[in-house]
Amino acid sequence: EAKRCGLGQIQLFHPQMADTMEHRVRMESDLRWAIENNQQLELYLQPQLNRSRQVIGAEALIRWQHPKQGFISPAEFIPLAEETGLIVSLGDWVNQQACKIIKQWQQLGMAHLVLSINVSSPQFQQLDFVDKLNDLIRQYDVPPGSLKIELTESVLMQNVDEVIGKINELKQLGIQFALDDFGTGYSSLSYLMKLPFDLLKIDVSFVREMLSSPEKDAIVRTIVQLSHNLGLSVVAEGVETEQHFQHLQMLGCDSFQGFLFSKPVPAVEFQQQTP
Ligand code: C2E
Ligand code: MG
Ligand code: MG
Ligand code: MG
Repeated sequence: EAKRCGLGQIQLFHPQMADTMEHRVRMESDLRWAIENNQQLELYLQPQLNRSRQVIGAEALIRWQHPKQGFISPAEFIPLAEETGLIVSLGDWVNQQACKIIKQWQQLGMAHLVLSINVSSPQFQQLDFVDKLNDLIRQYDVPPGSLKIELTESVLMQNVDEVIGKINELKQLGIQFALDDFGTGYSSLSYLMKLPFDLLKIDVSFVREMLSSPEKDAIVRTIVQLSHNLGLSVVAEGVETEQHFQHLQMLGCDSFQGFLFSKPVPAVEFQQQTP
């Protein structure tokens, strides 16, 4: 990004930016190494509960433990992976780990649980995304009904008919689809609702403020009603307090996820804490 100087001129390179670019190049090569060597990366799981507080599944959230920089947030390295194309191999890795987790659940008598995975738009855009996922499902012999894919509305940057086609192909296998971060984007609602989702996810930002902001509360109510009017299920993310939970239940929300129940934890811990 070019930075404006005092005289209105544009200075293309300055020392801080060189630092940043060097940092990005370094992070890119570190991330590539981590993916290729199957190290430092781990899928954490955060439980999703129904209205009776029973665990019905989990969302897989990637964690990167960098040897020098410590924990790096996915909010930081997923965008980097998307920009550099590394999201393809990272996404393949996530999908494979997800299948392994579902396999373990089956062996542990937890086969009723559904695992949600986040698939970023450039990843979903791959021509062979459906084929690769299908191969993994067969290789690990997992029931496709145990898998849910979370997409954000940025998938609409692609050809909408192609996206609908891919979603339907995977839905025919039994995979469910959720629209993540609903309400935070800029797409036209009628356009967005052409996509055959099963479920809408209310973004953390609305839930966090719904008890103090009438506007946020109105948005949450509207999303719940919209979902039900369209025959979709609705899940709230970012449920941090008992009051959040009560209020969302009162509004008719179908399922819940948040620190009130559990933060994202390693798969082994999730299995131990799930009855
Ligand atoms: P997301 O899919 O919307 O995930 C929800 C985020 O909210 C997660 O952040 C989760 O840890 C956080 N969260 C859960 N409960 C609460 C709560 O009660 N309060 C608050 N304040 N936050 C809560 P996280 O794990 O840092 O992930 C950030 C984003 O990174 C995700 O947002 C998703 O877009 C992306 N991401 C994570 N894992 C993957 C992955 O495997 N693949 C892809 N493509 N993206 C991923
Ligand atoms: Mg998600
Ligand atoms: Mg979200
Ligand atoms: Mg998000």
